Amino acid sequence: MRTSGPPVLELRNVRVSYGAAPAVSDVSLDVAAGALVVVVGPNGAGKTTLINAIAGVHRIDTGELSMDGRSLRQVAPYRFCEHGIALVPEGRRLFTTLSVRENLELGSYRGAARARRAQSLAEICTLFPVLEAKLEAPAGTLSGGQQQMLAIGRALMSRPQLLLLDEPSMGLAPLLVDQIMDAVVALRRDAGTTVLLVEQNAVAALSIADRGYVIETGRMGHAGTGAELLRDPAVREAYLGL
Ligand code: ATP
Repeated sequence: MRTSGPPVLELRNVRVSYGAAPAVSDVSLDVAAGALVVVVGPNGAGKTTLINAIAGVHRIDTGELSMDGRSLRQVAPYRFCEHGIALVPEGRRLFTTLSVRENLELGSYRGAARARRAQSLAEICTLFPVLEAKLEAPAGTLSGGQQQMLAIGRALMSRPQLLLLDEPSMGLAPLLVDQIMDAVVALRRDAGTTVLLVEQNAVAALSIADRGYVIETGRMGHAGTGAELLRDPAVREAYLGL
């Protein structure tokens, strides 16, 4: 497990608000190179707000957000992908009438990623063989689990250094949740992709995490390895329903 590499992503005392109302307050976290880090928390805790801020979708009000030691505070939202960040958004946001192949290709519109489009496509088909069989099918005809694989594949087409996943288990049956979590483990293991995952399904997410954080009402609480948090009686009772 690589949990001690240099930090790729660093957040220090970050606050994100909607108007005057803060949704995330004083959040600090590190994601080491090659690590799989998860943030778990209940509905409305601020997980989507946090991950969207890291993807550049929301501006942070105060604090610091940096990739590879370079601040992103002055970077325009549409330029975050040039810093190696790719988001798999909540609800997948696929283009359902376009084919699987077209959805994937949309993930590689930037020059460097476009030049390696064929290679990326082949790698994603290896990671998700079911997509290869359906490349010409409209994305809207895929099952929920397949659509989640496609959304992850589309993000990977940009060849990100840091992959952000917002609740990939949402709306999926337990068996499919396991498949998606296995795929996340595989892409970290095989491609060395650094992953930050936010999830309401805390057991599934912490089970694969190198490091986990618990967020509640916009603030970070417990932190530790995934195994430590799964064992912690306070976490088990309050957040895992165990
Ligand atoms: P979920 O699991 O439901 O996605 P979450 O942990 O991702 O929850 P957020 O969606 O980030 O939580 O919401 C955090 C807080 O910010 C909540 O109180 C929510 O009501 C509020 N919020 C989210 N989006 C907006 C918005 N567009 N305008 C105002 N408040 C918002």
